[in-house]
Amino acid sequence: MTDPATNLHTVRAQIEAAVSACGRKPGSATLLAITKTFPVDVISAAIAAGQRRFGENRVQEAEDKIRHFKDTPGLEWHLVGHLQSNKARRAAELFDVIHSVDSLKLARRLSDACVSLEKTVSVFIQADLAHEATKFGLDAGRVPELVDDLLGLPGLRLDGLMTIPPFFEDPEETRPFFARLRELRETLEARRPGCLGAGHLSMGMTHDFEVAIQEGATILRIGTALFGER
Ligand SMILES: *Cc1c(COP(=O)(O)O)cnc(C)c1O
Repeated sequence: MTDPATNLHTVRAQIEAAVSACGRKPGSATLLAITKTFPVDVISAAIAAGQRRFGENRVQEAEDKIRHFKDTPGLEWHLVGHLQSNKARRAAELFDVIHSVDSLKLARRLSDACVSLEKTVSVFIQADLAHEATKFGLDAGRVPELVDDLLGLPGLRLDGLMTIPPFFEDPEETRPFFARLRELRETLEARRPGCLGAGHLSMGMTHDFEVAIQEGATILRIGTALFGER
């Protein structure tokens, strides 16, 4: 169950099956392996099995892991968890992609850090589609304004949208949230063509990634199916 190589093989096959079943282009949904709480030897096993893109949800925890693999070429590190503005500089140093930008304050801090580091970080806006006050993410109605602001920030490249829907036992109940994120992308692109760069939709986790693929997900954030329960 917890052999990462076997699980990676299985999950990749499931992803490609779901992608082709709904008529999408092979390889159009990317597997992001979420390694939070798992030690470096688990990540090493995944690398040995060909995985290159990894996601973490805390800056502090990710820092040690990213440092451990600093001499391994070709790895891509994504931050998928909430980011506090006071950790923006550290995050800008460590990560290639940040999925959880949900305020102008955070975006500005990240951009300033990137400018001084002479790097560009790819970012997604995290949209809150469920109006859950306790969750992170920006209310969908305020996303267009943040898009406009982000496009003026030199250190960041806006490349898409991300969402974490409420949890439902039945992944079919999650479908409307995935559809809403896709519709939000279409609205934003119609209003300002090209504003979302690569136009990624970061959505879908272990128990609902097949539904997310049907609704257009391009980045699947999967942990449990690869590495076991946390
Ligand atoms: C942990 C986590 C995941 C992975 O969830 P699984 O159910 O283990 O696949 C995806 N996205 C975010 C933001 C996470 O924190």
